[in-house]
Amino acid sequence: MGLQIPGSITASKVSSFKECGLAFRLSVIDKIPQPITPWTLRGTLAHTVLDRLYFRYDGAGRTRDIALELAEEVWAEALAEGTLHSLEASSTNLDSFYREMRTLVLRDFEAEDPTNVNAIATELRLETQLGGVTLRGVIDRLDLNEDGTLTVTDYKTGKLPGEVQENERLSGVYFYALLCEKVLGQRPSRVQLVYLRDATRIVASPTEQSLKGLTSRTEAVWRAVCSACEREDFRPRPSKLCRFCCYQELCPAQGGSLSLLDTFKGSRGGRKDAGCTEAADGLGN
Ligand code: SF4
Repeated sequence: MGLQIPGSITASKVSSFKECGLAFRLSVIDKIPQPITPWTLRGTLAHTVLDRLYFRYDGAGRTRDIALELAEEVWAEALAEGTLHSLEASSTNLDSFYREMRTLVLRDFEAEDPTNVNAIATELRLETQLGGVTLRGVIDRLDLNEDGTLTVTDYKTGKLPGEVQENERLSGVYFYALLCEKVLGQRPSRVQLVYLRDATRIVASPTEQSLKGLTSRTEAVWRAVCSACEREDFRPRPSKLCRFCCYQELCPAQGGSLSLLDTFKGSRGGRKDAGCTEAADGLGN
């Protein structure tokens, strides 16, 4: 009968499939929620603050004081909406969590000069068709440079990656460049990963050839996903990432069993605050 083929693909899904077919299946097809960890939550809040900083204020208005005011605003909303419930449940110290979130935001001022950025969009949702699949992405920030070219910015709140991981992260932001080219009709001259924790930027220039290569690789991943769905064959691929995987109980490579899938779905259904490891933050966020 086969498994249901996903309706769309994103940069992180492409990366997830390449890392481990089984983890991809459990997340994307069986839709078992990934846990919300303190580290992913901190990253989400910092992203929201920076989104508001660049969206609401023009160059000169983007000061550290304004950034801290926005951090306070986002924090108050998170408290009021109960977003921080998972932190309270895991006994995380809220004061130090808040300080760390503010520090992440302020590191953007060390990594780049926000007053010198002409941001024309934040949290920009784009989608396009590619060989039978819908590509989707949300671009953290799109800047218009003085020479009329575009820069795509993606914030990262995890650790600065090693060389292999850096290429994988760049593939993700090249994916956004591909979306810009297809939807906006302009290939960005620059893409940058802003690593907030380390106040460091990794900058690259997409070329016609690099985006062509990315297109071919994405189509190949999509064909592999469709084929795995038809054959119901998503294999585990053990690696150092297994330590941070929340599907170990279902994974034959870890002594688990897929026969527990229905039980696991029932217990994990709305629960997103279980099982978190700090190192995982450096891998995906
Ligand atoms: S434990 Fe490892 S091999 Fe198993 S699903 Fe998770 S990442 Fe894949």
